Amino acid sequence: MTDLKISRIDVFQVDLPYSHGTYHLSGNRAITRFDATFVRITTNTGLEGWGESTPFDNYIASHAGGVRAAIAEIAPKLIGLDPRRVDRLNDAMDAALLGNEPAKSAIDIACWDIFGKSVGLPVCELLGGRTETKLPVLESIPVADPEGTRKHVSDARAMGFTGFSVKIGSDPVANAARVEAALIDKKPGEFFLIDANGGMTVDTALRMFRLLPRGLDFVLEAPCATYRESISLRRRIDVPIIFDELANNESSIVQFVADDAVDGIGLKISKTGGLTRGRRVRDICLAAGYTMSVQDTSGSDVAFAAIVHLGQTIPEQYLRCILECRAMCVGKTADGPFDVHEGVLTAPTCPGLGVTPRMEVLGVPVASFV
Ligand SMILES: [Mg+2]
Repeated sequence: MTDLKISRIDVFQVDLPYSHGTYHLSGNRAITRFDATFVRITTNTGLEGWGESTPFDNYIASHAGGVRAAIAEIAPKLIGLDPRRVDRLNDAMDAALLGNEPAKSAIDIACWDIFGKSVGLPVCELLGGRTETKLPVLESIPVADPEGTRKHVSDARAMGFTGFSVKIGSDPVANAARVEAALIDKKPGEFFLIDANGGMTVDTALRMFRLLPRGLDFVLEAPCATYRESISLRRRIDVPIIFDELANNESSIVQFVADDAVDGIGLKISKTGGLTRGRRVRDICLAAGYTMSVQDTSGSDVAFAAIVHLGQTIPEQYLRCILECRAMCVGKTADGPFDVHEGVLTAPTCPGLGVTPRMEVLGVPVASFV
């Protein structure tokens, strides 16, 4: 193995406005911009790798300032390590700082980018090998009134999307109307995730189901905030359940399997801590027969590249979709062969992630570690 060592880590910050004004989630949560952190890792041979972590601050417990603060703690301890030994690199990150997965994610993704470039292979090949699947992309539809929901779905459909993550709130009557409006024009081959982001109680969820007509084809994502409520609801409804906010790491997935708690998960890369842990979560889910939606909390072109490469390794039967996180953000931060045609794309064949960052957008580093 040739000598390859991390010699420098640079951190960049970019503001990414939400692309539709204000993003509304259950519980009166709203966001208008995302604060993106980019990591560039440079090796002793001059190879560079890139990673991105863009939290959605009031969605799960992560925030952008925390990402950069945690990177400042971790990065100095990684200088001199081999970025291709991704599991050992994660051991070193955990030894430096527990938790803080969204910070570790950007570093971990950059290491996979270098690993791919060092051996001339795309990241998806190193993650286990590409499938033949064309990856269906998912559009995220924020909480709106029924007509607004129907229009956003219709607009996304016109853009080629076949998968829709429709956000709902807490009121059972409004939620039932929203779900009906979202599904009213459903076309063959389309799929719907009805995502409450933990905003319903068992009471309000059961009442929503009472109000819905039978036969609507959707899966229910993150109905309740807590694990206990979610399990209680699952025992009383016959709709498949997907966990997202509760699916944080390998051990949480193992617990779901033990409890028969769920039918699939939202695999958000930064939440999991990067591609190394995302790969482990993928494999546990495959063993459990869970479907996966490969996503991130938000993010631009570098985050999307990581999603595409991991998504490209999941057999079609278990892949629900990937999130087109770029559609959530205004601003292009990198170029690469990631065009979506008729709602699908495949991972590129060039080495690494296949992204070329736009330095004029990223600007100068906000922190550097050597
Ligand atoms: Mg979700």
